[in-house]
This record gives sequence, C-alpha cells and structure tokens, in this order.
Amino acid sequence: MFRTRFAPSPTGEPHIGNIRTALFEYLAARHQDGKFVLRIEDTDKSREVPGSKEKIMLGLSWLGLAWDEGPEVGGPYGPYVSSERLDLYQKLAKELVEKDWAYYCFCSPQRLEEVKKAQVAKGEIPRYDRHCRALSREECQIRLDKEEKAVIRLKVPETGEISFDDIVRGKVTFQNKDIDDQVLLKSDGYPTYHLAVVIDDYYMKINYIIRAEEWLPSTPKHLLLYQAFNWEIPYYAHLPMVLGPDRAKLSKRHGATSLLEYRDKGYLPEAMINFLALLGWSPKDGRDLLTKEELIREFSLDRIQKNPAVFDKDKLDWFNGQYIRKLEPQELSERLKPFIPADYDKELVKKVVPLIQDRLVTLKDFAALTDFFFVEKLEYDKKLLIQKGKTVEEAKEGLEKAVELVEKSAWEHDALESAFRSLAEELGWKTGELFMALRVALTGRTATPPLFETMIVLGREKVVKRLKEAVGKLAE
Ligand code: GLU
Ligand code: ZN
Repeated sequence: MFRTRFAPSPTGEPHIGNIRTALFEYLAARHQDGKFVLRIEDTDKSREVPGSKEKIMLGLSWLGLAWDEGPEVGGPYGPYVSSERLDLYQKLAKELVEKDWAYYCFCSPQRLEEVKKAQVAKGEIPRYDRHCRALSREECQIRLDKEEKAVIRLKVPETGEISFDDIVRGKVTFQNKDIDDQVLLKSDGYPTYHLAVVIDDYYMKINYIIRAEEWLPSTPKHLLLYQAFNWEIPYYAHLPMVLGPDRAKLSKRHGATSLLEYRDKGYLPEAMINFLALLGWSPKDGRDLLTKEELIREFSLDRIQKNPAVFDKDKLDWFNGQYIRKLEPQELSERLKPFIPADYDKELVKKVVPLIQDRLVTLKDFAALTDFFFVEKLEYDKKLLIQKGKTVEEAKEGLEKAVELVEKSAWEHDALESAFRSLAEELGWKTGELFMALRVALTGRTATPPLFETMIVLGREKVVKRLKEAVGKLAE
C-alpha cells in the first residue's frame, strides 16, 4: 500500500510552496490508490504560531485535499501531532544511546557558541566538535543523576558514505565525515525534527516521502537513523524548489505567499490546483488545463522535473479566468457570495453574472466591474457625456431623444440596437458616439459589459431615470 504524508510545521500561514508539496503528495496517493496522511510537526515550540495548524487544515480543505488519516479524522497510527508523541521519541532516543548510535551531550549553549565562533573565524563550516562523544557511560550517568541538562546527539560514523536513489534526483551520495552530530532530543524532552520525522514516518507506515528539496541535506541523517533502528528505508522524492519570477526563492516580496490570501483574493480552488500541479510536473501530452480528476489519473512521480519551478502570477490569473468561464452562471453566483455586499439584490446578481463572466480574472473583480447595477446614484464627470466635437446642447439633445426612444421601444436586445442605430443617423452622430454617451449615462463609466444587454438587465425604468439624470447634469 502506497502511503505518503504531508508534515507541515505550524509556524505560519499555509505557504504556497508547502501546499504545492501537499498537492503532489495527494495526487500521488490518489493515483496509487494509497493513503494521504496529515501530520502536524510541532516539535519546535518556540517557532509555533497559534492558529497556524487550523489555517493549514483550512487551506487543504478549501482545495479539497482531504487527508485519509490525521488530525480531526484520526486513523490507526495516531496521534498525528508530534507533540503528543513525546514518550515514544524519548524512549527511542534512549534506545539509540544504549545501542551506541547516539550519546549524551552536556555542553552549555555558551560553549557551543564559542566553538562556533572559533570555527567561523577559521573559515570552517560550524558544527559540533564532538566534545562529549567520548564520555563514559558511568560519567554520563553521574551527571544525569545530578540532573545536569543534556541533549542526545546522533553518533555519525567518522568514515564511509551514504547513498540513496531519489525518485526525482537520481542517486545522491553524502560523505559521513561531512555530517554533523545532529541533536535528536533536546534538553526539554522534545525531539528535533530529524528524530521525530523518522520515528513518525516509520510508525505511520509511510513508504513514500515526498518533500521539498530543502530537506535533501537532512536525508543522510534520517538514513542513518533508519539504519540505527534497523528499519526499512522508504522511497524519497525531493521536489524542485518554487522560485519567484526573479529566480529567487518564492517569498513575501513576490506578493502573496499564503494560500488563504489567494482564496480571499477570489481565486478558485480548481484553478489553484491546476496551477500548482504544473509547478514542477507536467502531463505526458503537455496539456495545460487539467481538472483534479484528470491530474489524479495522469500524475506520476517520475514526471517530476529536477529544475526549479517558477511561480508565474499571470499564468495563475489565466487559469483562474479559464475556470471562471467554465462555471455554470448559477454556480458562479454562489461562489461570488463572499465577494459581494450582503444587501445586493440576489435576483439582479443572477442577471448580471452572465454579462461579466467572460471578463472576470478573480471573483473579487465582480464588485468593481458591476457596482453600477446595484447603486442608486452614479457618480461621474459630466464631460464624459459630451462626445468630441459636440456642444453641450447637442449632447443633451441626443440623450433627450434617447429617453423618448427608450420609453416606447420594444424591450428586447435587437430592437433596441436597431432603434439606437437609427437615432444616431437621425442625429447625424456616429453610432460609437451615441453608444458611448449612453454607456456613460447608464453606468458612469466608459468600459462596461455590452451596452444593450446592460440596458435590459437594468430595466426600462432605471434606464429612463439614468438618462434623465444625465440630461439634468448637462443642464446644470
Ligand atoms: N515539518 C517539515 C516542514 O515543515 C516537513 C519536512 C518533511 O516533509 O520531512 O516542511
Ligand atoms: Zn557536548
């Protein structure tokens, strides 16, 4: 059974890069008919941000990435929150000490700081100097009995190398001599990420570890732990980084990085999924538009690319527009609800939606593009009513004639259009000039959805009222 997991640390908002990881894990699990597990890695209490865990789950739920096991849904290998598994880490860390794969370190933070300073001064890469590695068991016991503060460190072999086959990167080799004696258990009894991740993955029967490339240098430490415990090593796939358009790692200065910001800006979850899926992966046929179901069908780990992926906001906008166009107008009205004032007339919203559907980039655009349908009084500069080369009198006359026409015309698109074309001729105006004057009078702006469709949705009464108001403005 294929089992993979998303293991975020609750240290902030659900970051777009991490969510891309979660999506790849989800797609791989669904494609393989396996399990997608959610585990919260809250091993560093100092970096924890309250509410973060909830936001991460909210983000996954918004995208529809349902986890099979994890917080809220439970499962056979819980608890799925690291801080609730401390006993297990402590027990196994001690076991490693007994097996001589780990050792107690009593060094004070000050000492470690001094060692680091000296190494940096010599131009060396800072690492633990293995000061406590040779302490005898007896001495350690005496100091522990005295309740001296201690951490447990991994006893990395001094020579040799360690390799593994990464599904994305191929064979990767590390020299043991380059690996630091990593802290596994901190003096407060909390594990570090490195210890917790290996133990949790093992106990949760995770056999595919799909995660960001930044964890690649940690992998040899994890492999040593698997070896120390004599556990079967899982498969690894390290995903390419996600960069901003300037090729720097995606960060705040490239714009929104939280998934929830995109939700709040009016992006559709289906557009987000499609867009994120192509950050480092592509289907065989090179297609762009794929629904979640299609992605599940097509996804395979061996098509993940090595090169970094670039986050292209214009591409996301394009996807969002595409998915907005695909929605039934009824469904689009539903989705718009959080983005429009509560007092908007629901029936009117339904009528406006089809006029604007092709022009929305995000759901949030709706309000600004259509507010003239919903407000009582329009605010605009009356100069916009006077077309180039026309006098105020002429502009007024055109609109007065328009009122007469509207009052008696059949209330139907083609009838209105041909009547207004005749009116333009009668006035000696270009049709464009008359249509622009009408557009401004009816909407207060110069770019709008198609004019006669807009008129029909506004209704005869409101059209007459607005045309008369425009005449009034010109008379002032
Ligand atoms: N807790 C790590 C993170 O926040 C997970 C790393 C892993 O997947 O092993 O990214
Ligand atoms: Zn030490």
